[in-house]
Amino acid sequence: MTTLVKKDFIYEGKAKRLYTTDDSKYVIVEYKDSFTAFNGQKKATMSGKGVLNNNISSKLFTLLKEKGVDSHFVERIDETHQLVKRVKIVPLEVIVRNIATGSLCKRLGVEDGLKLAWPLFEMCYKDDDLGDPFIIEDHALLFGWATKDEIDKIKEISLKVNEILKEYFADKNVVLVDFKLEFGKDTDGNLILADEISPDTCRFWDSSTGDHLDKDRFRKDLGDVLGAYREIWKRISA
Ligand code: UDP
Repeated sequence: MTTLVKKDFIYEGKAKRLYTTDDSKYVIVEYKDSFTAFNGQKKATMSGKGVLNNNISSKLFTLLKEKGVDSHFVERIDETHQLVKRVKIVPLEVIVRNIATGSLCKRLGVEDGLKLAWPLFEMCYKDDDLGDPFIIEDHALLFGWATKDEIDKIKEISLKVNEILKEYFADKNVVLVDFKLEFGKDTDGNLILADEISPDTCRFWDSSTGDHLDKDRFRKDLGDVLGAYREIWKRISA
């Protein structure tokens, strides 16, 4: 258990706050109770959401570490805090999809719920003002957002994460539909997985009923949003 404690506030994002510690290699993440969707246009606060996402994300980063996927996650400190390695975030949002839904269907007109023959790897440029636009590899290379080596590594790790999580969730009667990952470079220059893995950043469908157990309940006003997050936590903590 770390002795590091929160020092100075660094940054507030849509779902988390960041603080320095006495060790410049580590920062503390605080998971907030806030929900946002559609690039921050829709907002809400639900008490207990931060605790759930911290628990779920901590559990999944720990699972990935056991399976050989390194990330910024060091440990869960308490209900809403994690100790993580300080990283410089690569400005890419990587999406892996097993089933077509959401923006993919809107963009390309493909059938919602279509099972993909192999995992689809996509990249967006991480920029809220631009609405995280979809990009191809050449954009990232030309504009210096990542090198070829970094993109190759990001793709390899993302597909490995997909294989691990898909199997893990299948066992819990949950279909891993798609998810978003972010990567960063730690203070030693290593490229590692960062951010969070939670119902905010993944789509989870109940394998039997097809019920949405993720942020789509908030995006689409399906009700009992936190109940779905609790259900995911219940299944993975059992
Ligand atoms: N996603 C995310 N943050 C974003 C955009 C997407 O975590 O800014 C996740 C989303 O929860 C889903 C996956 O990435 O699990 C694919 O989302 P999609 O591109 O379909 O976008 P959406 O339909 O959510 O706009």
